[in-house]
Amino acid sequence: AVESRIAAVTGANKGIGLAIVRNLALEYPKSPLKSGPLLIYLTARSPERGSEAVKTLNQDEQLKKAKVLKQDGGDVEVSYHELDISKKEEIHKFRDFLKKEHPQGIDFVINNAGIAMEGFDSNVVKTTLQTNYYGTLEATRELLPLIRNGGRMVNVSSMAGKLNKYSDEIRQSFLQASKKDVPAVTAIMEQFNSSVEAGKENDAGFPSAAYAVSKAGETAFTKAIAMEEAKRDRGVLVNACCPGYVNTDMTKGRGSKTVDAGARTPVMLALQDIGGRTGEFWQSEQIIEW
Ligand code: NDP
Repeated sequence: AVESRIAAVTGANKGIGLAIVRNLALEYPKSPLKSGPLLIYLTARSPERGSEAVKTLNQDEQLKKAKVLKQDGGDVEVSYHELDISKKEEIHKFRDFLKKEHPQGIDFVINNAGIAMEGFDSNVVKTTLQTNYYGTLEATRELLPLIRNGGRMVNVSSMAGKLNKYSDEIRQSFLQASKKDVPAVTAIMEQFNSSVEAGKENDAGFPSAAYAVSKAGETAFTKAIAMEEAKRDRGVLVNACCPGYVNTDMTKGRGSKTVDAGARTPVMLALQDIGGRTGEFWQSEQIIEW
């Protein structure tokens, strides 16, 4: 019997996340990982915005033309599910839902949801870490065990999380933590948080930049989890990437790439032969220095 494949994308009601869903649908038929039909869970924190996005896709001209959706005779279906990644209960609900609906497992998870707030103070730091770091970490931890042999986990991090803006000491802690384990990475996030509360983050070797540090943490824990996962020998590849500088609400029209161009690397990491690479940081379809 032909199995079907299951994908889930977070923060997929707009921007790069929505483009990831569209491009998964367009590229799945040509993917070496294709096996039977594909069901994509477009997840979003708002049911209204999420179901509206599914409607938009069902009317998308390019998808219609390519005849990839079920309604046009194709193999791909898109379904909404609620998921606010900053809320543990919602991640656990989604995990339990997937376990029940798909006891055979799922195949592709793309953690795309993220926020970038204006300003810098200890509240901005807490809220940003809660979503970009702790939320993405929880989703990665809870959904990874559901992924079947040969599946993929892709975390949409950022070049803002590169290690060129830290003291040598902090840079070394990031590098060592990413090779050690998740608690070591979380300890750096806690160190950042408490140094901000004390008004001393620069003395501690951090930039005054919540988003950048949260994304450095995301890349770091993705590497740590990829290493753990590799020991299980299931052929599940776990990678972090930067979509490039993309024109979305987050960049307020300043980004130079289209959302489809931004979706290219994340979708490649889910659907293409990437030579078994795991625990890497990618941009423009290539492994780059973190
Ligand atoms: P947008 O602001 O356009 O979209 C962000 C998406 O994430 C929205 O769907 C938003 O939902 C969702 N989201 C935010 N918080 C949560 C949450 N707690 N739970 C679930 N969903 C949430 O941003 P982009 O499309 O530009 O960004 C997508 C990803 O790419 C982010 O992780 C971002 O950091 C990363 N990135 C973007 C770059 C760029 O140039 N645009 C560059 C580098 C990285 P809602 O509509 O409800 O707010």
